[in-house]
Amino acid sequence: MNQGGWSCPHDRDGLCHIIKQECDPGHKGCVLYGKVKFSSQESPSNEAFEKRMERRMRQFLNKEAPTQEP
Ligand code: SF4
Repeated sequence: MNQGGWSCPHDRDGLCHIIKQECDPGHKGCVLYGKVKFSSQESPSNEAFEKRMERRMRQFLNKEAPTQEP
């Protein structure tokens, strides 16, 4: 699928060679799943993206938290 200025290198004339189905950006199996937030609120990528960001923020905050000496 080529919309706008980006084209996916896995797209072969509308078929995704990863999921072996029609290109459906942001759905499970797609390289974009959970990595980007889509303007369409129905995209399954959006919830996965939010969870990923929360997990990364928790990891970041845990690293930044000062260790408490006994
Ligand atoms: S489904 Fe995702 S990985 Fe597959 S061709 Fe489309 S944009 Fe690329």
